[in-house]
Amino acid sequence: MNRKKSVCDIDVKGKRVFVRVDFNVPLDENQKITSDSRIVASLPTIQYLLDQNARVILGSHLGRPKGEVRDDQRLTPVARRLHELLGRPVKMLDDCIGDKVIAAVNAMQDGDVVLLENLRFHKGEEKNDPEFVKELASLAEVYVNDAFGTAHRAHASTEGIARLLKPAAAGFLMQKELEMLGGMLANPERPFVGILGGVKVSDKIKVIRHLMDKVDSLLIGGAMMFTFYRAQELETGRSLVEEDKIDLARQLLESGGSKLCLPTDVVVSESPDEPVNLHVVPCSAIPENALGMDVGPETVKAFGEKIAQSRTVCWNGPMGRFEVEAFAAGTRGVAEAIANSDATSVIGGGDSASAVTKMGLSDKITHVSTGGGASLEFLEGVDLPGVAVLEDA
Ligand code: ADP
Ligand code: MG
Repeated sequence: MNRKKSVCDIDVKGKRVFVRVDFNVPLDENQKITSDSRIVASLPTIQYLLDQNARVILGSHLGRPKGEVRDDQRLTPVARRLHELLGRPVKMLDDCIGDKVIAAVNAMQDGDVVLLENLRFHKGEEKNDPEFVKELASLAEVYVNDAFGTAHRAHASTEGIARLLKPAAAGFLMQKELEMLGGMLANPERPFVGILGGVKVSDKIKVIRHLMDKVDSLLIGGAMMFTFYRAQELETGRSLVEEDKIDLARQLLESGGSKLCLPTDVVVSESPDEPVNLHVVPCSAIPENALGMDVGPETVKAFGEKIAQSRTVCWNGPMGRFEVEAFAAGTRGVAEAIANSDATSVIGGGDSASAVTKMGLSDKITHVSTGGGASLEFLEGVDLPGVAVLEDA
């Protein structure tokens, strides 16, 4: 992929800049922000634009209002938090298009910040409706996309707008994501180890195929390992298996050859929600009434050795049902091995990112992607529409 034009490559001084950010923050029942990390992640781009005396118009979605105005999904709490973080006023508008919004953006001075109301209050956003796109584009003179997390969606504010409003450049967060994920896939230092987990083979099939061509080893964990076990004629008890993907798993095992590494031992339990008769068994001895909930210690050791020898690691998908502490050791062991290695490490996927954050290890990872679904599609080798539409550098 070509390098995309960056916010540094364009003239923004005194210009109205529409910045698509990802302010889709988690809110509690009292509309309090429970994690502001997405707001914090957008600060370098916003601060840079302000330092350049641009007029910054911020647009984001929040939740899934499906084209309806919902008071509990307004961006007001975000404006308040952004004001605190930036140390300057953030003007919250009560819509993202229309005469009042146009008047407000026309009244902006250099260095002003305006936050538009939730873009998804309009049906046109997710439909990428040309009329809505035109109205959004008319607000500004420059377009910057810093919302990597929604770049896999061809929506009005992520795709349509960049066709009309040029220059169209990547913000710093977007750029970092593309450099880290793209650089890793394009020219990894070797050995390059991929680690995949999560629930379903079907969710990850494209990632498995794409990574298999690039990596030196592909370590498989998570519930999807059981579909692979079945392809090897192993018994899996009551573990999650996708019966209709067993053939596919068999093909992958054949094409992957010695690159593909499956766990050799499994943590089993009689309940998926809590440890009941919890013990470790070899992969050839999963009891009939048990569910495999995590990879076992022998596997953690073997995976850890592969990781320790690697120069590049790409991880997506937890090794077990880590949300239950009794089933978290495999995910923790792999996360620690990555944290302790000298390899360049990149983690993609929403649950994997939250697992390393929860385990307090994210600082020791080279890059934890902020884009859950988007990072997964990137690992599939798919061209993200919100990236493809940005101008090449
Ligand atoms: P990501 O969001 O990082 O791409 P996935 O969504 O594919 O990851 O998978 C995450 C989920 O997989 C977690 O919620 C975890 O509980 C679940 N999981 C992993 N292994 C197992 C298992 N053996 N049994 C049940 N669930 C599992
Ligand atoms: Mg997930």
